[in-house]
Amino acid sequence: MREERLGHDLYKMVEELYPLCRSITGNGVRETLAKLQEKIPLSLHEVPSGTAVFDWKVPKEWNIQDAYIKNRHGTKVVDFQKSNLHVVGYSVPIRTTLSFNELKPHLFTLPDHPDWIPYRTSYYKEDWGFCLSHNQWLNLQEEDYEVCIDSTLEDGFLTYGELFLRGQSPDEVLISCHICHPSLCNDNLSGIAVVTYLAKYLLKKNRRYSYRIVFLPGTIGPITWLSLNEERVTRIKHGLVVALVGDPGPSTYKKSRRGDAEIDRVVAHVLLQAGSDFQIREFSPYGYDERQYCSPGFNLPVGCFMRTPNGCFPEYHTSADNLNLVQPQYLRDSFVKLLSVVDTLEGNKTYSNLNPKCEPQLGKRGLYRTLSGQAERGQKEMALFWILNMSDGAHSLLDVAERANIPFALIKQTADLLEDNGLLRECST
Ligand code: ZN
Repeated sequence: MREERLGHDLYKMVEELYPLCRSITGNGVRETLAKLQEKIPLSLHEVPSGTAVFDWKVPKEWNIQDAYIKNRHGTKVVDFQKSNLHVVGYSVPIRTTLSFNELKPHLFTLPDHPDWIPYRTSYYKEDWGFCLSHNQWLNLQEEDYEVCIDSTLEDGFLTYGELFLRGQSPDEVLISCHICHPSLCNDNLSGIAVVTYLAKYLLKKNRRYSYRIVFLPGTIGPITWLSLNEERVTRIKHGLVVALVGDPGPSTYKKSRRGDAEIDRVVAHVLLQAGSDFQIREFSPYGYDERQYCSPGFNLPVGCFMRTPNGCFPEYHTSADNLNLVQPQYLRDSFVKLLSVVDTLEGNKTYSNLNPKCEPQLGKRGLYRTLSGQAERGQKEMALFWILNMSDGAHSLLDVAERANIPFALIKQTADLLEDNGLLRECST
């Protein structure tokens, strides 16, 4: 029941953020981050346009009030107020009258999906355009059209949100999520909602690691953040980019560039033990912001946690990536798996067996054949044996869980029991 409510809460958040017109800069991003601040104590950062960030520059800030195409009867045949996808993101302002032929190069449609509006942007080349359904396009006539984009593209700021949660260790876990898409649900509102709730969970948790959770515009966001925080990134021991976590597809994990980082093993273990379909992909330098975190100058242990990958579902970057595509049960499933990832990272320690010469007598300690739950007993006892055997100071609990093919949570719970009974001691790190 509690889990059903969780799915509903995540979906509600997607629903609330859906109408806002986000981009890589501007008030849509600020309004989105303000909504997140109602749930988590996020700090907002404003980086001025023109700031040099590695090979890039923070762009001008874009804001939009309204946009439309009117026919000669004064009817709006394309109307930004009906969908913010109708305007190419970062369109420069324009107010003019054009013939259909002059207008055509500025119109974008998807002939294969004639009811859908494509999502397009032109961040780094000053241009303007409209996106519309192909059916809308087919209804246009050879006539003059009044074209209006009431936008501003001026010096301003790039806005991002950051939440730092101090743990016992200065070692950090980075969770990163992009916030720059307008009315699109799976990409990227699903990630924003799931990461916000993950932050809520972490806020209350007794933390071993410190957590740095960042909500940034895609590409330029992590480039800016890495540039401003370069001396700090060596503290990042594990990281995830979270996106596309609300569709019906199986969970997919794209490994970090390193390929064998602890986070890569932890996510693979969690997905395997979850018992449903999943996919593990090797790193490639295309996708989301793992591209920046895994650039060779940083090579951070950051993978990408998603369901159906970018570009692999037909609704991707179209108006069909809407509130029907994303569903509460998939958001919840992704969230629950991420909690397991965090709990596994937190609990993955190395122990020494304090009775390493032959097996300790478990029966006299009440540890053998006295455990409750008949069905689970076999696995619980195997967990005991595996931990005792592998805890030689050189193998972590994740090593044990992988080798024994037993869920990490049970391995951890059993290790705690052995520690309470004086049979196991955590090795100092
Ligand atoms: Zn996208």
